[in-house]
Amino acid sequence: MTNRLALENTYARDLEGLSVPWKGAEVPAPGLVRFNKLLAEELGLADAGLESEAGAAILCGAAVPEDTTPLAMAYAGHQFGQFSPQLGDGRALLIGEIIDRKGKRRDLHLKGSGRTPFSRSGDGKAALGPVLREYLIGEAMHALGIPTTRALAAVTTGETIYRDRLVPGAVLTRVAASHIRVGTFQFFAARGEAEKVQRLMDYTIARHYPDLTGMPDRAIRLLERVCERQARLIAQWMLVGFVHGVMNTDNMAISGETIDYGPCAFLDTYDPAMMFSSIDHGGRYAYGRQPAIAQWNLARFAETLIDLINPDDSDAAIEGASAVITDFGGRYRDAWLTGMRAKLGLKQAHDADADLAEALLGLMPAKRVDFTQLFRALGEAAAGNPEPARALFSEPDAFDKWLARWQTRLAQEPVAPTERRDAMNAVNPVYIPRNHHVEAALEAAIAGDLAPFDRLLAVLQAPFTVQDGAETYALPAPADYGPYRTFCGT
Ligand code: AMP
Ligand code: MG
Repeated sequence: MTNRLALENTYARDLEGLSVPWKGAEVPAPGLVRFNKLLAEELGLADAGLESEAGAAILCGAAVPEDTTPLAMAYAGHQFGQFSPQLGDGRALLIGEIIDRKGKRRDLHLKGSGRTPFSRSGDGKAALGPVLREYLIGEAMHALGIPTTRALAAVTTGETIYRDRLVPGAVLTRVAASHIRVGTFQFFAARGEAEKVQRLMDYTIARHYPDLTGMPDRAIRLLERVCERQARLIAQWMLVGFVHGVMNTDNMAISGETIDYGPCAFLDTYDPAMMFSSIDHGGRYAYGRQPAIAQWNLARFAETLIDLINPDDSDAAIEGASAVITDFGGRYRDAWLTGMRAKLGLKQAHDADADLAEALLGLMPAKRVDFTQLFRALGEAAAGNPEPARALFSEPDAFDKWLARWQTRLAQEPVAPTERRDAMNAVNPVYIPRNHHVEAALEAAIAGDLAPFDRLLAVLQAPFTVQDGAETYALPAPADYGPYRTFCGT
């Protein structure tokens, strides 16, 4: 085991006032649960000896590699619409940055490594269930082609911690393009520290949008870029039925990656009002509200940049920023419609396509049709067999009408039917992390049996490919399952 991981600390070096040097808690018995070898390879860490006892101590924060100073990050954020000027890593540490094999700087971050100066009343710990949940769902999102933080390792600490019951304590090693959040900008902006917001902006630009470096109008351009990336991200979520669950501004990354998997879940039946979080009483973060919430969060981001957009004329700055935020709607629609066309086997853009897609979605809630199964079945329908899709509707009359309309539209773009099906199958997954399978895998893991977790993870790593013996993973939960609730007790 080498005790050097070639880590850097530009975040602490370049951004005074945004972090405190910190160390993870001592724990009785660090034990590696799972290690992501492919990701380790991508990071150049395959031979760093992390899969060892000494490695497990590093991956739970109790031991520190020689060449780094871990830190807890400060940030603010709107949680369920209420502003908190100081949140910060209450149970997490940035152990350092690593340059991956493609030359990209990535954060190595621990979640569950003990109390920090930002812990408030929390215990600083994470439980094994939620740690494995973030591992599983993050890796599934990645396999679906959706920008996301990744999971490098899950480690148990040997402690028992109290949640709704006594559970094993654990730490997730998370890899992210960065941990700069909307809430990071809000932290300085709320204190009126304009010069520090500027430094953070320039750091962010250097790291994520380097072509904007030094431009006089870089503040508004940064806002545009972040809006563009978020528009594409949220569209991707919507197109696979992902519900994040806690879209607070501290859980929105400036890099455009999905971050902070807590009470997230995937839709079975399509329903815009669907939400799963036990703490979201008003349905603020329901599936169908995600684009509007992203836009709201981006408006909070824009507010932090006003002085930088135009230091001499705040009315002009607000006008410019408001126009960008308004444009988010169109950007999102474009990204969504492009994705929806691909899901429906269309390459050309016709005016009526949005209406066609919405007509299909409109049929689904009342009929309780499974979102993922239906789109996958449409591939078969495009190849000449509409029966699997029809079979998802108990009374297929309305669907038959839609089918005829869609087939007329397909005829306007002649393609070999099997070629069209293959293109559709490349974007319409067979397997998503179905809630009942996720829960079963986590329950077994907590009881010491990781086989169901490994099996589910393996299936989810090739979500577009039909796999022998994996039929049950493609099916929705039995009718008597639910209503499904996820808990924030993470
Ligand atoms: P989250 O909803 O997981 O994004 O967390 C919101 C805030 O609460 C962040 O500042 C976390 O660091 C903090 N937090 C969550 N759980 C704990 C915990 N068990 N101990 C200390 N802080 C926590
Ligand atoms: Mg968070």
